[in-house]
Amino acid sequence: MPISKTVTRIDINQRRIINGADADVIQLYPMKHLFAWEAYNTGNANHWLPTEISMQKDIEQWRSPGVLSDDERKALKTVLGFFTTADSIAANNIVLAFYRHITSPECRMYLLRQGYEEAIHTHAYQYIVESLGLDEGEIFNMYREVDAIYNKDEFILGFNEGIFDPAFKTGTFEADQKFLENIVVFSIILEGIFFYSSFAVMFGFQRQNKMIGSAEQIQYIMRDESQHLNFGINMANTIKEEQPELWTPEFQQRMIDLVKRAVVLECTFAKEVFPTGIFGMNAEGFKQYIEYIADRRLARIGLAQQYNVANPFPWMSEAIDLSKEKNFFETRVTEYQVGGALEW
Ligand code: FE
Repeated sequence: MPISKTVTRIDINQRRIINGADADVIQLYPMKHLFAWEAYNTGNANHWLPTEISMQKDIEQWRSPGVLSDDERKALKTVLGFFTTADSIAANNIVLAFYRHITSPECRMYLLRQGYEEAIHTHAYQYIVESLGLDEGEIFNMYREVDAIYNKDEFILGFNEGIFDPAFKTGTFEADQKFLENIVVFSIILEGIFFYSSFAVMFGFQRQNKMIGSAEQIQYIMRDESQHLNFGINMANTIKEEQPELWTPEFQQRMIDLVKRAVVLECTFAKEVFPTGIFGMNAEGFKQYIEYIADRRLARIGLAQQYNVANPFPWMSEAIDLSKEKNFFETRVTEYQVGGALEW
């Protein structure tokens, strides 16, 4: 759009996540949404690349008969089948949907970083598949062949209708609710629920001292994803403050219903991953873990918890949820990370 020449300065109080002034979009400072700038800096401090992590031990374990059971092999391949395409879906949503509708330049700065991180994650899965000598066609096409993965992706991608439409514009009550719904679906459900049970599978391997290179890749990914989730939650909560009229009781109930549908899809996925259970984890334990995670996500956007269950995998909260001083990344080959920024 053309820029109008003016000496009138931007009023920072007018800045909005969506529906802000057009001229505001290219002026990073002064800044209003400080959470986005913090997320951008944290992302930079956490920079990593998949090829820095040694896969040697994983390759030996995968090739030696008897180290991994058939169930463990199936579980690893199924979570890779989900992972390999999930970050591409997330990346497309950032670039093709979120970015052009967001009018906060600091949020756009973070989205540029986030988009790159999604590419690194897809690279990591490709690197695991290649290192282990898995059939790329099989793993990367699983989202179209395995019902439990297809149904998750189908659920998520359905919400891009409208938002991806080049004619879609924010600025009406319906469109703004649609956009907010997109944030809930992509950040809270895709990044906040659909990834986490697959993360847990990988840490199940790690706890058995199996596939530790793959698990380390996933630890880095999980650290990035927890930032993506936080950013999405911050965007949703800020839109709620900036446009409180959108957060109607009906809309809140709709978001709860979406999360509950996602929990059912994720439990079905867990059954596909663990037909009989591995590492003392089975679909029943996973159901409770998914419900526990879903409640936490709902609470963070101010919605009522639906399940009220205890965390059945307390070791996961050590690995994921808590801000800890422990360095999880001591096996790292090279270091970008400086000082105390390793806390989550
Ligand atoms: Fe992400």
